[in-house]
Amino acid sequence: MTIVFASSNAHKIKEINAIVPKGITVLGLADIGITAEIPETSNTIKENSMLKARFVFDYLKQQQKTMPVFADDSGLEVDALNGEPGVFSARYAGTPKNDANNNQKLLQALKNVSKRNARFVTVITLLMDKKEQVFEGEVKGTIAYEARGTNGFGYDPLFIPQSYRSTFAQLSAETKNSISHRALAMQQLLAFLKTID
Ligand code: IMP
Repeated sequence: MTIVFASSNAHKIKEINAIVPKGITVLGLADIGITAEIPETSNTIKENSMLKARFVFDYLKQQQKTMPVFADDSGLEVDALNGEPGVFSARYAGTPKNDANNNQKLLQALKNVSKRNARFVTVITLLMDKKEQVFEGEVKGTIAYEARGTNGFGYDPLFIPQSYRSTFAQLSAETKNSISHRALAMQQLLAFLKTID
């Protein structure tokens, strides 16, 4: 089976490819000729996930190609910041988006905060002919006091998943991909695909 992942984020594509079993080929946006960034104009993660999947599904349909498409929209929600940066995670420190600046801004916002609970969420929307499914993954954790580790991307150097001492960026890709918000949502997607086999 071939399925299109509506993303041009090389880190996300790598994680998804590590999660899907052999037998499923995942194409990224570059593979289907989309180079422009898909607008994420909604103010919810769920709707942005849907917008991305819909954009790509319709693009393929216009070319008489009906292929399953899924999109991932993710965000980091910090309790002490009333759920921010949330849907604005990518551009938390402004545009153009920049991971290091986002992490710096987050550390600054939590400068004198000791309750550092947070969660990462991913909403995956899957569009297939006449079928639309939404899968949500969440991982709870806390925000570190300084950036640690070089693996992963985005807020990984600051996010310590529950029951670990290391940040996502200090954990191996294998460990992150077994517990992450994205992995949990993907496992549901894969279970769903099995039911329609
Ligand atoms: P989006 O889902 O591409 O809109 O990502 C929103 C923001 O969250 C971006 O700044 C990403 O870098 C960040 N992000 C998404 N997924 C992860 C992750 O698994 N780890 C760390 N940061 C992430």
